[in-house]
Amino acid sequence: MNWSEFGALLDGATRILLVTHVKPDGDAIGSLVALTNMLRARGKAPIPVVDGGMPEFLKFVPGSEQVVGQVPALDYEVMVSLDASDEERTGEAGKEGRGRAWKVVNIDHHPTNTGFGEMQLVDAAAVSTTEVLWNGFTALGWAIPEAVAVPLLVGLVTDTIGFRTSNVTPHTLRVASALAEAGAPLYDIFQKTLISMPFSTVQMWRSALETAELKDRVISATLTLDGLRKAGLSQASDAGGLIGFLISVNEARVAAVFKEVTAGSVEISLRSKPGYDVSGVAFELGGGGHKQASGATVAGTMEEVQQRVLPMLRRIARRKSSAS
Ligand code: 5GP
Ligand code: MN
Repeated sequence: MNWSEFGALLDGATRILLVTHVKPDGDAIGSLVALTNMLRARGKAPIPVVDGGMPEFLKFVPGSEQVVGQVPALDYEVMVSLDASDEERTGEAGKEGRGRAWKVVNIDHHPTNTGFGEMQLVDAAAVSTTEVLWNGFTALGWAIPEAVAVPLLVGLVTDTIGFRTSNVTPHTLRVASALAEAGAPLYDIFQKTLISMPFSTVQMWRSALETAELKDRVISATLTLDGLRKAGLSQASDAGGLIGFLISVNEARVAAVFKEVTAGSVEISLRSKPGYDVSGVAFELGGGGHKQASGATVAGTMEEVQQRVLPMLRRIARRKSSAS
């Protein structure tokens, strides 16, 4: 599928549903809200849905107040899935939407994308789904107003951790520059998405760093429900910042944070240095992501999951792969 087909499809539709992935990050919300605002500017009334509603730290994004927590019981001509590499990752909203929509469009940038939906606009070379959207809007000749520029830049900044990932190209910087020209506030977006944090994050880091281990070039940390309770926290927030800190350790090639979600389920965040690809391990575990940043949620006790996953990571860390 190409962008002109996408443009014609959306311009010809009236009932449009937009979904993204569960536990949405800056690129998920950025791409969801950017497409919402763009379609609104074109006279449409799309319905963006996120299971459980908007995450608090992204509510500053203009247009995010349109996001609802559940799919309204209507028929939809089109459902667009943004930043989700597989159908399951679109959660309840995606499941409900698939039953109600005639056509599903899959817009994404994950190399592990399964190719679901009737139409795919997947570009694994893009740093974020918002970069994919920018390329598409530009190809269509759709002008980008400030209300679209802000969420697009949010996705660009968060998925590249402030333009620091190895996939950032001169093109990415040109896109960022164009978005800043269109009125997106770069400093504000950095502050709100990457820099400011509540004190509870420091407490969570303290609990996790106590468990930090480095073995065979794999650095790992563990967040158990018990550890979080002792730290006075109901849940672990911002494991993303923590894993970014761990992979910055010189001796490490691969980093993992194991977070106990329930007594029988562990969420794993993975990062790697360029030349070491963790996406295959994540995919094998039922998750997905990128070469340098991926994740999965795995059934089992903390001990079982670590015994299974750490040897897989050590294998990855042993030698450089030419393809990554
Ligand atoms: P994080 O460590 O920040 O939670 O996740 C890093 C990246 O891994 C995400 O941007 C996403 O691409 C991918 N990822 C994390 N968890 C999952 C998962 O459960 N399933 C899939 N398909 N991808 C995941
Ligand atoms: Mn993304």
